[in-house]
Amino acid sequence: MEYKMRKSKRAQRMSLVVYWDGRCELVVPIKNTPSQKHIDSFVRENIKLIEKRVKKLECNKNKTHLSHQGVPFEVVQENTRLLVNKILAKYPDYYNKIKTIRIKKYKAQWGSCSLSGCLSFNYKLSLLPVELCEYIVIHELAHIDHMNHSKLFWNNVLKFCPDYQQYKKELRSYLV
Ligand SMILES: [Zn+2]
Repeated sequence: MEYKMRKSKRAQRMSLVVYWDGRCELVVPIKNTPSQKHIDSFVRENIKLIEKRVKKLECNKNKTHLSHQGVPFEVVQENTRLLVNKILAKYPDYYNKIKTIRIKKYKAQWGSCSLSGCLSFNYKLSLLPVELCEYIVIHELAHIDHMNHSKLFWNNVLKFCPDYQQYKKELRSYLV
């Protein structure tokens, strides 16, 4: 593994940082600079974890990044709220079971459904192709009756979104 070493005034202890483009940096505190032997063993201990992270980042490189294209966060968020509501309105039986709808920043997911009936969605939803957005909303909606990914759950999704398997696959090409 290749990495650059950076000495830091603020760092309290050693850490390995993986950047978006796959670069690795070993941050070493200036105060109490560890010995080379200590550094080597630290890198050795963490190598598996770092390699896993680098692999994941390389995989993300091929994914589509959803860009605001200069539109402010609040506007994107509001667009997503409008779109989510529009989709949900098509399913009145479920709509009544929803307590709250939240549109927020997520790092690794598109949406969630809580036991209490709160649906949350990633604010970037409205930047996705509309059929993928529909699939995500239906997916979370179907969780109201099944808080798992059982056969019954997927049957529910299928009922409202017959092409869900294709959308599920397409969704993987987008970076959350
Ligand atoms: Zn789910």
